[in-house]
Amino acid sequence: DLTINKIAAGEVVEGPYSVVKELIENAIDANATNITVEIKEGGQKYIRVSDNGKGIHEEDVELAFTRHATSKIQSLEDLASIISLGFRGEALASIAAVSQIQIITKPREQPYGISLDIVGGKVVNKQQVGSPDGTTIEVKNIFFNTPARLKFMKSSQAEATKIGEIMSRLALSQPNITLKYINNNNIMFTSPGNNNLEQTIVSILDKDLFKNLIYIENSTNDIKLYGYISQPTYVRGNRNFEIIFVNGRFIKSKLLYKAIETAYKEKLPINKFPVCVLNIDINPNIIDVNIHPSKTEIKFHDEEIIYSFIYKTILANLAKHTK
Ligand code: ADP
Ligand code: MG
Repeated sequence: DLTINKIAAGEVVEGPYSVVKELIENAIDANATNITVEIKEGGQKYIRVSDNGKGIHEEDVELAFTRHATSKIQSLEDLASIISLGFRGEALASIAAVSQIQIITKPREQPYGISLDIVGGKVVNKQQVGSPDGTTIEVKNIFFNTPARLKFMKSSQAEATKIGEIMSRLALSQPNITLKYINNNNIMFTSPGNNNLEQTIVSILDKDLFKNLIYIENSTNDIKLYGYISQPTYVRGNRNFEIIFVNGRFIKSKLLYKAIETAYKEKLPINKFPVCVLNIDINPNIIDVNIHPSKTEIKFHDEEIIYSFIYKTILANLAKHTK
């Protein structure tokens, strides 16, 4: 019922950032290889996410916007992680409860698309339309019907920054997907989607990086490290571009930042930080991750081993590639 949906929405929809995150996750789950995210005014007024994924069949479109409607519980294992994560099958229902939504969706095998409009959780229009394969969801005026929530919205600048961050992390962790991010009619970046990490990094950061990136790679029995680090002459004023993925997941780790920066130490100007995008594939038995997908911390059982592995690999590569 609509009131329950509005209350549940409070758990899922923190603001534009969380809406974008849920919509992108759905696009990836639908096997999209091309995802475009457009926002205006930090997303509060306008968000559009379009994908070329598998689409939703005519008879399932309305269902997708009801609570606990999920097509994704296939095994007991799924069920366990769903119970611990909560909120499965609630994202679309929750977003729809507190905004004005239009979805246009077309599975490849269906000759036409379905367009559905929902305002504050109520379906106001449904019709057949011409559409490319895939799904486009437009979310307007988040919290228009919950003024109390609207009042406590973060600034549109803060939301746009967070959305930009999640978009660039996603592009870097999934270089096989073409991601395009448009903010207030400006194209912020388009990743090539050709599985080339170097070109992906450059598409997100800047062209000067091309001649300043060093490919690094090293492994032990339990750890495989690969990615790019910048020449010590190419630096940034903060740590935001020390980007680390562990088993495909973005993490923040003081331990690893320290390993990276210590390797650079003598080569870096004071108060400057390198740029790097590092993938660490590690035996899951020697780490603890918080199962909640929004958490970015990680615990390594043996910090000394991982620290010196990262430190030594970067140090050796810097020595080899810089004068
Ligand atoms: P969940 O993702 O947890 O299943 P959601 O409320 O986010 O719950 O989505 C409900 C259902 O709608 C999904 O299970 C999926 O079947 C369908 N769906 C949502 N977004 C897309 C999309 N972009 N492409 C294809 N199907 C989608
Ligand atoms: Mg979802």
